[in-house]
Amino acid sequence: MLFYIFFNKWVIDMEIKGPKVKDYIKKFIVEPQKKVQLKKFDSGWVQNETLKALSEDAAKDLLEKKLARDRASLADAQELLAAAHEYGVLIVLQGMDTAGKDGTIRHVMSGVNPQGCEVHGFKVPSAEEHAHDFLWRYYDVLPERGMIGIFNRSYYEDVLVVRVHPERMEALPKKLGPDAKGFWEGRYKDINAFEKHLVKNGTVILKFFLHISKDEQKNRLLDRLQNKDKYWKFSTADLAERQYWDQYTKTYEEMLSATSTEYAPWFVVPADYKWMARTFVAEVVTSAIVGLNLSYPKVSDEQIKQLMVAKKKLESE
Ligand code: ADP
Repeated sequence: MLFYIFFNKWVIDMEIKGPKVKDYIKKFIVEPQKKVQLKKFDSGWVQNETLKALSEDAAKDLLEKKLARDRASLADAQELLAAAHEYGVLIVLQGMDTAGKDGTIRHVMSGVNPQGCEVHGFKVPSAEEHAHDFLWRYYDVLPERGMIGIFNRSYYEDVLVVRVHPERMEALPKKLGPDAKGFWEGRYKDINAFEKHLVKNGTVILKFFLHISKDEQKNRLLDRLQNKDKYWKFSTADLAERQYWDQYTKTYEEMLSATSTEYAPWFVVPADYKWMARTFVAEVVTSAIVGLNLSYPKVSDEQIKQLMVAKKKLESE
C-alpha cells in the first residue's frame, strides 16, 4: 500500500515537473512558496558587462551573431514542437509599463514560423468578458499542441491592476467579491489549479516578469518624449500609472510569491537592458522545448514504400 501511494505520487510529480533551463537562469526563478522581494533581484544584471556602456543599437550590433543564433535555435525548437504535436507552450509576459513586453515578443517571434506562434494581448475586459468568470476570456485562446502562444498581459492582471485600482474590478456578488475574507488567496489558488490542469494536459507554461527599475522606466518614458518617431508610444496613462509604482511592486511581490510553482515557475527577468531580457526569454523558451526530448514522428516501412511509389510516379512524369 505504502509503495502504491509513493509510486502514485512519484508518477504525478514526474508529469508536472517544471521546464529545464540553463544554470545562469536558475537564480532568476522564484522559488515556490518563498516570499519575494523584488529589490533582491537585480534588474540591471547582464551576462556581458562590456555591453552595458553601449547604446542599445551598438549593443545590438555587437550581439547580432548571438541574437541570430538564439533565433535559429528557437526556430529549430519550434519546428520540433510542431512536428511532435504533443505539447503546447504558453508564454506569459507581465511587467510594469515600458518594461519591454512588445519588443521581447518581436524578438522571440522573429525567428519562428508565424504559423506556429500566436500572440494575444489583453486589455481592459469588455462588458461580455466581465459578465463571465475571470478566466473565461483566456481559456479560448490557449495554445494548441504544437503551438507557442504568447500572452501579452494575462489572467495575472486579474490579481494585479484590479487590486491597485479596485474600481476596475468586475461586479461580483458582494459575498464573493474582494471584500470577502481570503478573496485574493482564493484567486491565486484558482490560478495555480488552472495552470496545473494545463500542465497535466500537455502545456508547458513559462511566466516572465520583465523587471525594470523605476529609473529605467523614467529613461524610457523620457526617450519617447525626446524622439519624434517615438511620440506615438507615449501614453499619459503610463505616467499616471507610474505614481502607483510602490503599490504595483507590493502587489507583484505577493502575486509572484503565491503563484510560482514547480510546474509553472515565474522568471524575474533582468530587463533594464533590453538585449539581456530578449536573450534571456529566448533561451528559456528554447531550453524548455529542447528539455522535452521530443523527436520527429517516425516514418514506418509501409509509409516509406508509399513515398517511394510517389517519387517514382513524379519522376516518370
Ligand atoms: P499595453 O500597455 O499592454 O501595451 P495598453 O496600453 O492598451 O496595452 O494597456 C492595456 C490596459 O488594460 C492596461 O492598463 C491594463 O492594466 C489593462 N488591463 C488588462 N487586463 C485587465 C483586466 N483583467 N482588468 C482590468 N484592466 C486590465
